[in-house]
Amino acid sequence: MDLASYADLAVDLVNTQRPDGDTLRSLDGLHELLAGHPHLGGRISHRDLDAMRGLRGQLRAVFVSAAGGDEEDAIDRLNTLLIQHPVHPQVSGHDGQRWHLHINEGGSVPDRFAARAAMGLAVTIADRGLERLGVCAADGCGRVFFDTTANRSRRYCSAHCARRGAPSAAAAQRRPARTPVTARAQPRAGG
Ligand SMILES: [Zn+2]
Repeated sequence: MDLASYADLAVDLVNTQRPDGDTLRSLDGLHELLAGHPHLGGRISHRDLDAMRGLRGQLRAVFVSAAGGDEEDAIDRLNTLLIQHPVHPQVSGHDGQRWHLHINEGGSVPDRFAARAAMGLAVTIADRGLERLGVCAADGCGRVFFDTTANRSRRYCSAHCARRGAPSAAAAQRRPARTPVTARAQPRAGG
């Protein structure tokens, strides 16, 4: 397993809180989040659900600080998660695969999830930069994403939000033409 790919777990968990509702309000919602991740299988309780909701808040705060340009706060928060959920690597070979890394095969589901998500974020940030972490700019959305564009220009979580955001951006650009805005009217120094 490529450790950086575990960062997707962080995005998936944070995005369970959506403008149209919270899908992590029940054990069914948690089962849905964990589906397709065999390494995160196991018995889950309401206590695990609470732990996952707490983890969601911690992970969201990393994205919000990173997207807001507060690098130190984002890294502090991530390092705190890495301390709270230490990574236990194991080299493993099975099913004809070459030797590869597994991490945290034991422990509760939230612990295994947290160790993977935090490690995935750490590797992603170290490899590609903190500015890759984004929060959707569409009004009231709040979903998070990784900006994989070459010029780091992504602002929206989805094509849907980009369409939603685009008309207001276009309107904002048109507005000065109808009602003069001083900031726009001033010549730019050195322009
Ligand atoms: Zn969005």
